[in-house]
Amino acid sequence: MHPFQQYCRDELDRMKTEGRYRSFAALTKSRRGFPRYTDAGGREITVWSSNDYLGLGGSDVLAEAARQAIEAHGVGSGGTRNISGNTPAHEALERELALLHGKEAALVFTSGYVANQAALGTILASMGGNWQVFSDEKNHNSMIAGMKNARAKSIFRHNDVAHLEELLAAADPAVNKLVAFESVYSMDGDIGPLAELAAVCRRHGALSYLDEVHAVGMYGATGAGVAERDGVSDQIDIIQGTLAKAFGCHGGYVAARAEVIDYLRSAAAGFIFTTSLPPALAAAALASVRHVKGATALRARHAERAARLKAAFREVGVEPMPSVSHIVPVPVGDAALCREVSRLLLEEHGLYVTPINYPTVPRGTERLRFTPTPRHEDADIERVAQAVAHVLRQVGLLRADAA
Ligand code: PMP
Repeated sequence: MHPFQQYCRDELDRMKTEGRYRSFAALTKSRRGFPRYTDAGGREITVWSSNDYLGLGGSDVLAEAARQAIEAHGVGSGGTRNISGNTPAHEALERELALLHGKEAALVFTSGYVANQAALGTILASMGGNWQVFSDEKNHNSMIAGMKNARAKSIFRHNDVAHLEELLAAADPAVNKLVAFESVYSMDGDIGPLAELAAVCRRHGALSYLDEVHAVGMYGATGAGVAERDGVSDQIDIIQGTLAKAFGCHGGYVAARAEVIDYLRSAAAGFIFTTSLPPALAAAALASVRHVKGATALRARHAERAARLKAAFREVGVEPMPSVSHIVPVPVGDAALCREVSRLLLEEHGLYVTPINYPTVPRGTERLRFTPTPRHEDADIERVAQAVAHVLRQVGLLRADAA
C-alpha cells in the first residue's frame, strides 16, 4: 500500500472517532413535493436544510425555461464560453444580473465557488501581485481559496469595522488593497455592516468585494441582496452571488464595472478553461432572476417563516443562536452529539437537518442549521420545534422542565 493510502485510512478513522466523517443522506428530492423528500424506504421526510431558500428549484417558471432550452440547444454547452459554449441565454443572464445589482456588467461562472476563487485569484495576481488582501475571519472557503496566493493577507475580526480600519491604516500606502466580506454569513445568520465597511474601503482607497451568496433573491426590494436593502450597491466595487440558492438553479457570478468584468473574462483561468454552464441552466437562471425580482410576497413570506420558526423554538425552551436573517442555527456544542441529534430527528421524527461540525464551524460551536422556506407550513414549524425540544431533552441538552 502506498503511504498515502494508509494515510487516508488513518484520517478516515480519526474523522469517524471525532464525529467529523461526512456521509450523504439517502434522501430523494421530488420536484413538486418540496420540502418533502423520501428516504430509501419510501418514508416522507421534511427537509429543513435546503439552500433552495425560496423553494423555487421545482417551480414551473424554472422547469419550463430549462425544458425549452434543452429542446432548443441540447443538454451540454459543448465548450468553454470562448470556444463554442456561448449562447444568447448566457449573455442575457449576464445583462440581467448586471441590471439587478446596478452594475455595468456581470460574468457567469460554473458555480459560486468558482466565481469567488477565480475572480479573487485573478485580481490578486494582477498588477504584478502588488496587493494586500483584507479578509473577514468568517469568510467562506471559496474566497479563502481565491486569496491563497495573495502576497500579503490580513484577517480582520468578524464584522469588526474598527479592526479593519486599523489594519488598513497600517498597510503600505504603495500596495493595492482589496477587502473581502459577506453580507449574510451562512452558519451564524448574522449580517455584515455593509455601509460602514464600504465607507472604510473608500477612505483607504481599497477595492471592496462582497459575497451575497446567502442574500441574493431574498433581501432588497428586487432581491439584489443586502447591498440593495441597505442602499449601498453603488458603493461596493464587486458583488458576487450564486444562482444555486434562492434562485433555485445553478452557477455563480460577479458584477462590477465593465472593464473589470471584461478583464476577468479574458484573464480568469476558472472562467476561460472550463466548459460553460449548460444552456438550460443559463435559461432557467435568467427566468428565475426575472421572476424573483418581482416576488415581493414570496420574500415577505420567507422572512415571516424564519421569524415564526425562531419564535416556535423559543416557545418550547430552545434558544436559537442570535441570527438576524433567514438562517436559524440551534447550538449543540459537540460534534458527536450534533450528529446524534440529527440522526434522532431523521429516524424518529422524519425531519432532516444537517449537523454542522468542524471545520465548517469552530470546535465547540457545533450546531444544527435550519433554513425555513416559504413552503414550510405552520404545522411543519410546530412539529419541528416540538421534535427538536424532545430530542435535545433526550440527549441531555435541554432540562426536562424547560418550557
Ligand atoms: N460563498 C458562500 C458564502 C457560500 O456559502 C457558498 C456555498 N455554500 C459559496 C460561495 C459557493 O456557492 P455555490 O454553491 O454556488 O458554489
